[in-house]
Amino acid sequence: MTMDSRPLFGKVALLGIGLIGSSMAHAMRRAGLAAHIAGYARSPETLEKANSIGFADGLHDAPEMAVREADFVVLATPIGAFGELAKEIAPHLKPGAIVSDVGSVKSAVIRDVSPHIPAGVHFVPAHPIAGTEQSGPEAGFPELFDGRWCVLTPTPETNAQAVETVKTFWRRCGSEVEIMDAKHHDLVLGITSHLPHLIAYNIVGTAADLEQVTQSEVIKFSAGGFRDFTRIAASDPTMWRDVFLNNREAVLEVLGRFTEDLTALQRAIRWGDGEALFNLFTRTRAIRRSIIEAGQDTPAPNFGRLRTRKP
Ligand code: NAP
Repeated sequence: MTMDSRPLFGKVALLGIGLIGSSMAHAMRRAGLAAHIAGYARSPETLEKANSIGFADGLHDAPEMAVREADFVVLATPIGAFGELAKEIAPHLKPGAIVSDVGSVKSAVIRDVSPHIPAGVHFVPAHPIAGTEQSGPEAGFPELFDGRWCVLTPTPETNAQAVETVKTFWRRCGSEVEIMDAKHHDLVLGITSHLPHLIAYNIVGTAADLEQVTQSEVIKFSAGGFRDFTRIAASDPTMWRDVFLNNREAVLEVLGRFTEDLTALQRAIRWGDGEALFNLFTRTRAIRRSIIEAGQDTPAPNFGRLRTRKP
């Protein structure tokens, strides 16, 4: 099957040009998806970096300038800013335009954005499940979405044709697309993404605060499991603050379950229940294998990282 290479949109406005926004611009350029890509960020530093990389045709420090005449508008700032941004751009949206987003939480985004969307403009909430721990316009790259899932969470009121267009957009960016109810999305991502981040932030914080083990020992001996947690715990603080503030209910639900399971493990260790430990570790190993079989990670040891030695 050959991919369509015609532009899907005349003008696309990316409100937020960090890791996700800039990666979208690169992926759009690669697929020839837009005749004109406009970007918005607040700070001159971000705009200058974006300008020097050159992934946008126009850069703006005012969101209403970026969205003028745009056929597709994507909210790609941290989600705490979405409501205010939607309110600001609403009077400037082109009739028939599609507004979408990339927020990691969906119910709260629908709650904050939908009331500002004018009649005749279609809002299609979306979440590309792809990312790294890096942020900013220089962190983006065209392959970020290749082979990764993008979840769309339309409501029963969402225009079906607009959903189809956003589906086509993400497919041409390299993603596979799934449709899900927003509440279910928040629970699924609560366990697969938000809780692991919380655990990573917590374990790295605990290690940093341990009185009996010095900070330099933590850093020096971090070649084991701890190092992988530090990668996750280096993720953008603003983005992740907003995720936890906006997916409170689902995170608290999975955190409650996690705490119970952790207590069971604590008991198994205390009472020397090797069978319980062995059984769990066998089950979890099989899950890792399924992720690799599904093509969502590499089977190479240590995630395929090069074995570099410090000189
Ligand atoms: P990022 O690299 O930190 O970029 C954020 C961008 O938004 C920057 O261009 C920033 O530039 C701009 N911005 C505009 N208004 C802002 C405001 N009020 N507060 C903060 N920044 C503002 O973030 P990202 O990783 O691309 O994440 C963007 C969105 O994608 C988030 O909603 C996140 O939930 C979602 N997402 C992230 C990942 C991931 O792994 N990172 C994955 C999937 C989805 P200025 O600071 O100059 O304004």
